Amino acid sequence: MMQKNEKKLVKIKYNHDNKEYIILNKCPHCNLDIHPTVENKYQFENKNFKLHILSLTCPSCRKDYFAVNDFREYVHGVDKYLFTIPEHSFHDESLIQNTSKKFQNLYTQSVNAELLGHEDIAFFGYIKSLEVLVKDIAIIEHPDSEDTVLFSSLIQCLEKFHSTNIHLFSKKLLEVLKNDYLHYQKGPEFYTYSELVKDCIDYFLLYLELLQKTFSLNERRSKEKEA
Ligand SMILES: [Zn+2]
Repeated sequence: MMQKNEKKLVKIKYNHDNKEYIILNKCPHCNLDIHPTVENKYQFENKNFKLHILSLTCPSCRKDYFAVNDFREYVHGVDKYLFTIPEHSFHDESLIQNTSKKFQNLYTQSVNAELLGHEDIAFFGYIKSLEVLVKDIAIIEHPDSEDTVLFSSLIQCLEKFHSTNIHLFSKKLLEVLKNDYLHYQKGPEFYTYSELVKDCIDYFLLYLELLQKTFSLNERRSKEKEA
């Protein structure tokens, strides 16, 4: 399975004013890997909470955003990260054109759920996103089978329409896609499965991108022939 770690959104340490904050490694506006500059900082505190907020500026697109951290004494490391305003959204231009709105919507919701620590919801979101993506691709490649594609399960669709790709998948990933929630929860490694599903989504996004390029290449070729 292809690894594209450099594309991954991760929480990173950011030092400012002798304090360690946790922020995301990418700008929520333009999605570029950045080292933002601090525009301002704010602190809010009551008997129960202690919030530190950085107002950051992206050096690339020059837009501002907020990163909110939990500074209560017993909160450490990446757990300090609460959220970013605005939320992270789907950015890759070519993929925005190529993927369906339904996929983009589900996928960004899943990413944001994961960032907020809602890992179970994120896990199901990623599996459903993968299902939408796999079906979108199957319909592009087999337009006559649209009904069959829509009424099959994710695993049926993979077996029937992506039989060459499925050989590339790990046994573990197939097991994860085949089983149900209660099965996954049996082991402590539950959360590592999300990574397998995310890698699989990355694989199909790349596959779709190449597929679209082949299509436009073919269109160009047939136009050239006509001319
Ligand atoms: Zn930016």
